[in-house]
Amino acid sequence: MEQMDSHLRAWQDSGVEWLPQAGGPLHIPLAVTSPPDQVAQTATTIRANVPNAGQIGPGGAGLAASINLPALSRSADLAAPKFPQTTQPDPGALFPREQMAPPPQRSAEGPPIFELPVLEDYQRDRALKDLAYKVSQCKKCPDLVRTRTRTVFGTGPINPQLCVIGEAPGFNEDQQGEPFVGPAGEMLTRMLAACGFDRQEIYICNILRCRPPENRPPLPDEAANCRPFLVQTLELVRPKHICLMGGSATKYLLGRDEFIGQLRGRELDWRGIPVTATYHPSYLLRSPAKKHDAWADLQQMLLRMGRTLPGK
Ligand code: SF4
Repeated sequence: MEQMDSHLRAWQDSGVEWLPQAGGPLHIPLAVTSPPDQVAQTATTIRANVPNAGQIGPGGAGLAASINLPALSRSADLAAPKFPQTTQPDPGALFPREQMAPPPQRSAEGPPIFELPVLEDYQRDRALKDLAYKVSQCKKCPDLVRTRTRTVFGTGPINPQLCVIGEAPGFNEDQQGEPFVGPAGEMLTRMLAACGFDRQEIYICNILRCRPPENRPPLPDEAANCRPFLVQTLELVRPKHICLMGGSATKYLLGRDEFIGQLRGRELDWRGIPVTATYHPSYLLRSPAKKHDAWADLQQMLLRMGRTLPGK
Protein backbone atom coordinates (compact mmCIF):
# COMPACT_ATOMS: atom_id res chain seq x y z
CA MET A 1 0.00 0.00 0.00
CA GLU A 2 2.89 2.33 0.78
CA GLN A 3 4.26 1.68 -2.69
CA MET A 4 0.86 2.42 -4.19
CA ASP A 5 0.65 5.69 -2.27
CA SER A 6 3.91 6.84 -3.75
CA HIS A 7 2.71 6.06 -7.26
CA LEU A 8 -0.58 7.80 -6.70
CA ARG A 9 1.46 10.81 -5.74
CA ALA A 10 3.43 10.40 -8.96
CA TRP A 11 0.16 10.71 -10.85
CA GLN A 12 -0.78 13.80 -8.92
CA ASP A 13 2.56 15.33 -9.78
CA SER A 14 1.99 14.60 -13.44
CA GLY A 15 -1.17 16.73 -13.38
CA VAL A 16 -3.92 14.18 -12.88
CA GLU A 17 -6.60 16.27 -11.24
CA TRP A 18 -8.48 13.62 -9.38
CA LEU A 19 -7.55 10.31 -7.83
CA PRO A 20 -9.24 8.38 -5.06
CA GLN A 21 -7.80 7.78 -1.67
CA ALA A 22 -5.45 4.83 -1.64
CA GLY A 23 -7.35 1.71 -0.69
CA GLY A 24 -10.61 2.97 -2.17
CA PRO A 25 -11.98 2.14 -5.60
CA LEU A 26 -9.43 3.21 -8.19
CA HIS A 27 -10.72 5.00 -11.24
CA ILE A 28 -8.66 5.87 -14.23
CA PRO A 29 -7.73 9.55 -14.39
CA LEU A 30 -10.59 11.77 -15.42
CA ALA A 31 -8.68 14.83 -16.49
CA VAL A 32 -5.06 15.52 -17.20
CA THR A 33 -3.40 18.88 -17.29
CA SER A 34 0.19 17.82 -18.00
CA PRO A 35 1.74 17.40 -21.43
CA PRO A 36 1.07 13.93 -22.89
CA ASP A 37 4.75 12.99 -22.88
CA GLN A 38 4.92 13.65 -19.14
CA VAL A 39 1.80 11.59 -18.57
CA ALA A 40 3.23 8.80 -20.68
CA GLN A 41 6.45 8.85 -18.72
CA THR A 42 4.56 8.59 -15.44
CA ALA A 43 2.47 5.72 -16.75
CA THR A 44 5.62 3.90 -17.81
CA THR A 45 7.04 4.36 -14.35
CA ILE A 46 3.90 2.93 -12.78
CA ARG A 47 3.89 -0.02 -15.17
CA ALA A 48 7.48 -0.77 -14.26
CA ASN A 49 7.07 -0.42 -10.52
CA VAL A 50 3.57 -1.48 -9.52
CA PRO A 51 3.58 -5.25 -9.49
CA ASN A 52 -0.16 -5.58 -8.95
CA ALA A 53 -1.19 -2.93 -11.44
CA GLY A 54 -3.18 -5.54 -13.33
CA GLN A 55 -5.57 -6.10 -10.40
CA ILE A 56 -6.46 -2.54 -9.54
CA GLY A 57 -8.24 -1.21 -12.57
CA PRO A 58 -12.02 -0.98 -12.82
CA GLY A 59 -13.62 -4.20 -13.84
CA GLY A 60 -10.41 -6.01 -13.17
CA ALA A 61 -8.64 -4.38 -16.07
CA GLY A 62 -4.99 -3.67 -15.48
CA LEU A 63 -4.04 -0.09 -14.80
CA ALA A 64 -1.62 0.18 -17.67
CA ALA A 65 -3.81 -1.75 -20.05
CA SER A 66 -6.79 0.36 -19.23
CA ILE A 67 -5.13 3.62 -20.15
CA ASN A 68 -5.24 4.68 -23.73
CA LEU A 69 -2.44 7.20 -23.44
CA PRO A 70 -3.08 9.22 -26.59
CA ALA A 71 -6.74 9.47 -25.66
CA LEU A 72 -6.19 10.81 -22.15
CA SER A 73 -8.77 13.52 -21.85
CA ARG A 74 -8.25 17.15 -21.04
CA SER A 75 -11.97 17.67 -21.12
CA ALA A 76 -13.44 19.96 -18.53
CA ASP A 77 -16.77 18.15 -18.46
CA LEU A 78 -15.24 15.49 -16.23
CA ALA A 79 -14.74 17.92 -13.44
CA ALA A 80 -14.17 16.19 -10.12
CA PRO A 81 -12.94 17.04 -6.66
CA LYS A 82 -9.36 18.19 -6.87
CA PHE A 83 -6.73 16.15 -5.11
CA PRO A 84 -4.19 18.23 -3.24
CA GLN A 85 -1.38 19.07 -5.67
CA THR A 86 1.33 19.04 -3.07
CA THR A 87 2.37 17.11 0.00
CA GLN A 88 3.80 20.29 1.59
CA PRO A 89 1.97 21.51 4.72
CA ASP A 90 -0.94 23.68 3.73
CA PRO A 91 -0.32 27.22 5.00
CA GLY A 92 -4.08 27.52 5.30
CA ALA A 93 -3.92 25.00 8.10
CA LEU A 94 -1.85 27.47 10.10
CA PHE A 95 -3.53 30.65 8.92
CA PRO A 96 -7.17 30.20 7.87
CA ARG A 97 -7.26 30.73 4.14
CA GLU A 98 -9.91 33.43 4.19
CA GLN A 99 -7.65 35.35 6.51
CA MET A 100 -4.55 35.10 4.34
CA ALA A 101 -3.37 38.37 2.88
CA PRO A 102 -3.65 38.85 -0.88
CA PRO A 103 -0.44 39.11 -2.87
CA PRO A 104 1.34 42.44 -2.37
CA GLN A 105 -0.46 45.15 -4.27
CA ARG A 106 0.98 48.25 -5.83
CA SER A 107 -0.35 51.18 -3.89
CA ALA A 108 -0.32 54.91 -4.40
CA GLU A 109 2.52 55.01 -1.90
CA GLY A 110 4.74 52.87 -4.04
CA PRO A 111 5.56 49.33 -5.10
CA PRO A 112 6.41 46.48 -2.74
CA ILE A 113 9.36 47.63 -0.66
CA PHE A 114 11.74 45.00 -1.99
CA GLU A 115 11.13 46.12 -5.56
CA LEU A 116 12.59 49.53 -4.77
CA PRO A 117 16.15 50.21 -5.94
CA VAL A 118 18.60 49.17 -3.25
CA LEU A 119 20.79 52.01 -2.02
CA GLU A 120 24.14 51.33 -0.40
CA ASP A 121 23.89 50.94 3.37
CA TYR A 122 25.85 54.13 4.02
CA GLN A 123 23.48 56.05 1.73
CA ARG A 124 20.50 54.75 3.66
CA ASP A 125 22.13 55.58 7.00
CA ARG A 126 22.71 59.11 5.78
CA ALA A 127 19.17 59.40 4.42
CA LEU A 128 17.76 58.23 7.77
CA LYS A 129 19.78 60.86 9.62
CA ASP A 130 18.53 63.52 7.20
CA LEU A 131 14.98 62.30 7.74
CA ALA A 132 15.41 62.37 11.53
CA TYR A 133 16.59 65.97 11.32
CA LYS A 134 13.60 66.85 9.14
CA VAL A 135 11.29 65.26 11.72
CA SER A 136 12.92 67.23 14.53
CA GLN A 137 11.99 70.43 12.69
CA CYS A 138 8.45 69.31 11.82
CA LYS A 139 5.57 71.51 12.95
CA LYS A 140 2.70 69.91 11.08
CA CYS A 141 0.67 69.05 14.21
CA PRO A 142 0.32 72.23 16.27
CA ASP A 143 -1.13 70.50 19.36
CA LEU A 144 1.75 68.08 19.52
CA VAL A 145 4.43 70.64 18.75
CA ARG A 146 3.14 72.76 21.62
CA THR A 147 3.44 70.02 24.22
CA ARG A 148 6.29 67.81 23.03
CA THR A 149 9.69 67.92 24.66
CA ARG A 150 11.41 66.45 21.62
CA THR A 151 10.60 64.28 18.63
CA VAL A 152 11.15 60.53 18.84
CA PHE A 153 12.34 59.14 15.53
CA GLY A 154 13.28 55.47 15.74
CA THR A 155 16.15 53.22 16.77
CA GLY A 156 17.81 50.15 15.35
CA PRO A 157 19.77 48.93 12.38
CA ILE A 158 18.87 48.95 8.72
CA ASN A 159 17.95 45.59 7.12
CA PRO A 160 16.62 44.17 10.40
CA GLN A 161 14.80 40.90 10.63
CA LEU A 162 12.02 42.69 12.45
CA CYS A 163 10.59 46.18 12.84
CA VAL A 164 8.29 46.89 15.79
CA ILE A 165 5.86 49.76 15.34
CA GLY A 166 3.89 51.16 18.25
CA GLU A 167 1.46 54.00 18.66
CA ALA A 168 3.20 57.19 19.78
CA PRO A 169 5.79 58.36 22.29
CA GLY A 170 4.69 58.44 25.91
CA PHE A 171 6.09 60.42 28.81
CA ASN A 172 9.38 58.53 29.08
CA GLU A 173 9.95 58.48 25.32
CA ASP A 174 9.23 62.19 25.10
CA GLN A 175 11.80 62.85 27.81
CA GLN A 176 14.51 60.60 26.43
CA GLY A 177 13.90 60.87 22.67
CA GLU A 178 13.79 57.08 22.21
CA PRO A 179 10.84 54.84 21.42
CA PHE A 180 9.69 52.16 23.88
CA VAL A 181 11.54 53.15 27.03
CA GLY A 182 10.10 53.02 30.55
CA PRO A 183 7.92 50.14 31.75
CA ALA A 184 6.39 49.46 28.31
CA GLY A 185 9.87 49.44 26.79
CA GLU A 186 11.05 46.95 29.40
CA MET A 187 8.08 44.76 28.60
CA LEU A 188 8.93 44.96 24.89
CA THR A 189 12.55 44.03 25.60
CA ARG A 190 11.34 40.96 27.52
CA MET A 191 8.96 40.00 24.71
CA LEU A 192 11.76 40.27 22.16
CA ALA A 193 14.14 38.30 24.36
CA ALA A 194 11.53 35.53 24.69
CA CYS A 195 11.54 35.37 20.89
CA GLY A 196 15.32 35.07 20.82
CA PHE A 197 15.95 38.66 19.67
CA ASP A 198 18.37 41.14 21.13
CA ARG A 199 16.57 44.47 21.20
CA GLN A 200 19.55 46.11 19.51
CA GLU A 201 18.98 44.08 16.34
CA ILE A 202 15.36 45.22 15.96
CA TYR A 203 14.22 48.49 14.42
CA ILE A 204 11.68 50.22 16.69
CA CYS A 205 9.49 53.22 15.93
CA ASN A 206 5.96 54.60 16.26
CA ILE A 207 3.11 55.83 14.12
CA LEU A 208 3.66 59.35 15.52
CA ARG A 209 6.97 60.98 16.25
CA CYS A 210 5.58 63.38 18.86
CA ARG A 211 3.86 62.63 22.14
CA PRO A 212 0.12 63.38 22.19
CA PRO A 213 -1.00 65.35 25.26
CA GLU A 214 -2.01 63.11 28.18
CA ASN A 215 -0.97 60.09 26.08
CA ARG A 216 -4.23 60.22 24.14
CA PRO A 217 -4.40 58.11 20.97
CA PRO A 218 -3.20 59.72 17.74
CA LEU A 219 -5.81 61.66 15.80
CA PRO A 220 -6.37 60.72 12.16
CA ASP A 221 -4.95 63.99 10.82
CA GLU A 222 -1.87 63.62 13.02
CA ALA A 223 -1.32 60.09 11.76
CA ALA A 224 -1.76 61.32 8.19
CA ASN A 225 0.73 64.14 8.77
CA CYS A 226 3.32 61.75 10.14
CA ARG A 227 2.74 58.90 7.72
CA PRO A 228 5.23 60.06 5.08
CA PHE A 229 7.96 59.95 7.73
CA LEU A 230 6.99 56.42 8.67
CA VAL A 231 6.79 55.25 5.06
CA GLN A 232 10.16 56.76 4.18
CA THR A 233 11.67 55.17 7.28
CA LEU A 234 10.39 51.73 6.29
CA GLU A 235 11.56 52.19 2.71
CA LEU A 236 15.06 52.99 3.95
CA VAL A 237 15.22 50.44 6.76
CA ARG A 238 13.68 47.59 4.70
CA PRO A 239 12.69 45.23 7.54
CA LYS A 240 11.97 41.61 6.67
CA HIS A 241 8.94 41.50 8.96
CA ILE A 242 6.81 44.08 10.76
CA CYS A 243 5.15 43.62 14.15
CA LEU A 244 2.38 46.14 14.77
CA MET A 245 1.65 46.65 18.44
CA GLY A 246 -1.75 48.04 19.30
CA GLY A 247 -4.83 49.18 17.44
CA SER A 248 -3.41 52.56 16.40
CA ALA A 249 -0.53 50.86 14.64
CA THR A 250 -2.80 48.57 12.62
CA LYS A 251 -5.26 51.38 11.93
CA TYR A 252 -2.75 53.88 10.67
CA LEU A 253 -0.26 51.64 8.87
CA LEU A 254 -2.69 49.19 7.30
CA GLY A 255 -5.82 51.35 7.28
CA ARG A 256 -7.70 48.62 9.16
CA ASP A 257 -10.42 49.71 11.55
CA GLU A 258 -10.90 46.35 13.25
CA PHE A 259 -9.95 45.99 16.89
CA ILE A 260 -6.56 44.46 17.50
CA GLY A 261 -8.33 41.42 18.96
CA GLN A 262 -9.91 40.85 15.55
CA LEU A 263 -6.70 41.35 13.56
CA ARG A 264 -4.31 39.32 15.68
CA GLY A 265 -3.70 35.83 14.35
CA ARG A 266 -4.15 36.93 10.73
CA GLU A 267 -1.53 36.90 8.03
CA LEU A 268 -1.20 40.56 7.12
CA ASP A 269 1.00 42.39 4.67
CA TRP A 270 2.21 45.91 3.99
CA ARG A 271 3.78 46.52 0.57
CA GLY A 272 5.15 43.00 0.40
CA ILE A 273 6.44 42.89 3.98
CA PRO A 274 4.71 40.27 6.17
CA VAL A 275 2.96 41.87 9.12
CA THR A 276 1.97 40.46 12.52
CA ALA A 277 -0.44 42.33 14.78
CA THR A 278 -0.53 41.96 18.54
CA TYR A 279 -1.24 43.85 21.72
CA HIS A 280 0.80 46.88 22.76
CA PRO A 281 3.09 46.26 25.76
CA SER A 282 1.37 49.10 27.66
CA TYR A 283 -1.93 47.25 27.30
CA LEU A 284 -0.29 44.03 28.48
CA LEU A 285 0.91 45.84 31.60
CA ARG A 286 -2.68 46.83 32.30
CA SER A 287 -4.17 43.49 31.22
CA PRO A 288 -1.68 40.75 32.08
CA ALA A 289 -4.25 38.08 31.24
CA LYS A 290 -3.69 38.98 27.56
CA LYS A 291 -0.02 38.04 27.71
CA HIS A 292 -0.94 34.51 26.75
CA ASP A 293 -2.53 35.74 23.51
CA ALA A 294 0.42 38.03 22.80
CA TRP A 295 2.81 35.14 23.21
CA ALA A 296 0.73 33.06 20.79
CA ASP A 297 0.96 35.95 18.29
CA LEU A 298 4.71 36.15 18.65
CA GLN A 299 5.11 32.41 18.20
CA GLN A 300 3.02 32.58 15.03
CA MET A 301 5.20 35.47 13.87
CA LEU A 302 8.35 33.42 14.45
CA LEU A 303 6.89 30.60 12.38
CA ARG A 304 6.15 33.00 9.53
CA MET A 305 9.71 34.31 9.80
CA GLY A 306 11.06 30.78 9.50
CA ARG A 307 12.68 30.96 12.91
CA THR A 308 12.87 28.22 15.49
CA LEU A 309 10.37 28.52 18.28
CA PRO A 310 12.01 29.04 21.68
CA GLY A 311 12.46 25.78 23.55
CA LYS A 312 12.12 23.66 20.40
S1 SF4 B 1 3.67 63.91 14.90
FE1 SF4 B 1 4.87 63.77 13.03
S2 SF4 B 1 3.82 65.12 11.59
FE2 SF4 B 1 3.10 65.66 13.64
S3 SF4 B 1 4.44 67.31 14.29
FE3 SF4 B 1 5.32 65.43 15.06
S4 SF4 B 1 6.80 64.79 13.48
FE4 SF4 B 1 5.42 66.33 12.56
